[in-house]
Amino acid sequence: MTENVISQNEAEKTGLSRYFTGKPCKRGHIAQRFTKWRACIACHDERNALDYKKRKAAGEDMNVRGRRSYLKNKEKRSQEQRVYRENNREKERERYARYRMQRHDQVIAAGRKYREENPDRVRVMVHKWAKENPDKVRAAKAARRAAEINAVPKWSEKSDIAALYNEAIRLGLTVDHIIPLRHPRVCGLHVMANLQLLSSVVNSSKGNRFE
Ligand SMILES: [Zn+2]
Repeated sequence: MTENVISQNEAEKTGLSRYFTGKPCKRGHIAQRFTKWRACIACHDERNALDYKKRKAAGEDMNVRGRRSYLKNKEKRSQEQRVYRENNREKERERYARYRMQRHDQVIAAGRKYREENPDRVRVMVHKWAKENPDKVRAAKAARRAAEINAVPKWSEKSDIAALYNEAIRLGLTVDHIIPLRHPRVCGLHVMANLQLLSSVVNSSKGNRFE
């Protein structure tokens, strides 16, 4: 591998943190050097690795340093992240959508856990969100209806299903789709075999889960 030769002087002038002479250090490395203190980076890395090994062998908790620096820079880092997120909203949204797809079950489980542990907070949040997004609430309802219509095969037991919904109202229960109608991996049907009665609480904690 050939690297561009940049003198220390040049690197300093152009603001580069490293320079490269192509000549070996006193221990034989042909490596970049730190502009600031002219030290060989390979030597530096070797020394660090050795130091790490020694301290680890001596039983030192190697995570302490990382944790300490994490805590020290927490404020600064979260501020930076906030700024980044604000400047890259679209990108972040896509990233999260990808994450949700890849770890669907984990995301659902985490949400369920949060809802179980913070029912009051969730109620307030949902209420606030619904109030601020009436259009989205309506759209979601419409989408669900559409999904149900699409998920009804011709041989569906319409009157049986209607009876089940009536039964649910009578008993104060909700009708749940055992296999969700809308899910990244499966598509349940709006048929008797896929319906069950649940208490509202259980159903809302079940969410869109499918296992
Ligand atoms: Zn060296």
